[in-house]
Amino acid sequence: MSSSAPLAGHVALVTGASRGIGRAIALELGAAGAQVVVNYASSSEAAEAVVAAITASGGQAWSHRANVADEGEVDAMVKAVLEKAGRLDVLVNNAGITRDGLLMRMKTADWQSVIDLNLTGVFLCTRAVSRAMLKARSGRIINITSVVALMGNPGQANYSAAKAGVIGLTRSNAAEFAARGVTVNAVAPGFIESDMTAELDKEPILAAIPMGRMGSAAEVAGAVRFLAADPAAAYITGQVLQVDGGMVMR
Ligand code: NAP
Repeated sequence: MSSSAPLAGHVALVTGASRGIGRAIALELGAAGAQVVVNYASSSEAAEAVVAAITASGGQAWSHRANVADEGEVDAMVKAVLEKAGRLDVLVNNAGITRDGLLMRMKTADWQSVIDLNLTGVFLCTRAVSRAMLKARSGRIINITSVVALMGNPGQANYSAAKAGVIGLTRSNAAEFAARGVTVNAVAPGFIESDMTAELDKEPILAAIPMGRMGSAAEVAGAVRFLAADPAAAYITGQVLQVDGGMVMR
């Protein structure tokens, strides 16, 4: 493996990679030499554009549509990746949604859809890849949580509960998988420029960020690339790496 392609020969599955942070992660892992599976739910053109960008830079990638909250679709996706590539080294659980609203008026459907995708989706994808990774005695699972899991956020009871659940899941899975060479870590972005944050009132957000600016998707992708790298991050597991411009220091 050359240092410019530290993930050469590795296969990475990135969920929700058609847009935003997932797109940046897919491009970053592709540039690091990994074959990238670009998962998406409905944006097929955007997913194909990510595949095209990776292949245009000399990398390898293909797309796979699957709803990560659907057990059958997740299992079929992982089976297809293993059949096509013969291995799966890195799973990035990135797909996520928001359905914000104050708790008193929050619809049960909005609670449930966020839990189903942002938390159960991470469980389903992790379970689906676990057999192959544990058998190979090697693997990297990187879960995208959020700083709101650590600090709470008015109007995001569903989202912050799901993201806090992802941290508990990360640590339990890290403890279960450690002896078999599979690491499980979380990355907790602060406020990052993306479709998800496009409509937010930026003034109070910027006032709470010591660096005084929102982060970029590429800055989150850099942290994911580090956690996927071997041997740089080989001895790191069960951790939450905050990428938040100093917003939450604890
Ligand atoms: P985004 O721009 O809204 O993109 C969401 C991605 O998730 C899209 O690729 C979308 O695919 C995919 N997706 C949605 N539902 C899916 C499903 N059921 N199955 C598979 N994929 C699905 O979001 P983002 O801002 O990049 O956020 C990415 C992750 O970072 C999320 O987990 C989010 O919670 C977390 N995060 C974001 C921020 C932020 O400030 N932006 C901060 C902290 C944490 P389609 O294009 O096909 O819909």
